[in-house]
Amino acid sequence: MGTRRTTPPNSDVSRVAWVTVQTRNGEQHRYRDTSTGRYISARQVRADIDRMVDAAGRGAARPLTEALRDRRISLAEWQSGMARAVKNVNYAAVASASGGVQNMTAVERGRAGHIIREQYKHLRNFAKEIETGKQPLDGRAIRRADMYMDAARGSYHEQKRAAEAAAHPGQVMMIRSIRHPGDSCRGCISLSGKWFKMGDPEYIPVGRRECRTSCRCSEETGVADESGAVAGLGMDGY
Ligand SMILES: [Zn+2]
Repeated sequence: MGTRRTTPPNSDVSRVAWVTVQTRNGEQHRYRDTSTGRYISARQVRADIDRMVDAAGRGAARPLTEALRDRRISLAEWQSGMARAVKNVNYAAVASASGGVQNMTAVERGRAGHIIREQYKHLRNFAKEIETGKQPLDGRAIRRADMYMDAARGSYHEQKRAAEAAAHPGQVMMIRSIRHPGDSCRGCISLSGKWFKMGDPEYIPVGRRECRTSCRCSEETGVADESGAVAGLGMDGY
């Protein structure tokens, strides 16, 4: 099996390849189903991430927090279990936008590491608030633990934005939000479809709007020419 064979989470490993394609706007990577020859849509990759995130909530964040609430595990055990889950989901999400673990470069592994270390900081704060009683061990704590898994969606988009920017050096990179029908918070509605310069503070990335980590909206990147006209890079490339 060649090194280019790879997979987004939960897909059938043997049937997915990470390929380089030439577009009008330069090289892009795509996932291709080797059994049909068809490209795999970003929607499918996102659906895999949503399934992974939901499974991590059901399989790790919730049972760990319930076990802590019921005094079946210590706070230290809860924290190390949560840290492991945080690492797994975020690493997998960055890998999904990088052609799978096998195709991750040092830059991408470094980005995943940085995201995970940031999450560990939040997790330490969460643990401290449980310890002091500021965070009661009720439904809110369980929901909050779940959000650590959901945050992996934002990590996927963060990697996608960074990779597209790196692939277009010297160009003016643009970003827009594509609204998911289920996302109807004010930010998701008002941002939908409008192009912003990447890094413009008026553009709030997926995962940081009112709906926070539960956001299922997508993002498209684009390049602007001298006249300001934007050529979208499409949803399915990386
Ligand atoms: Zn929203």
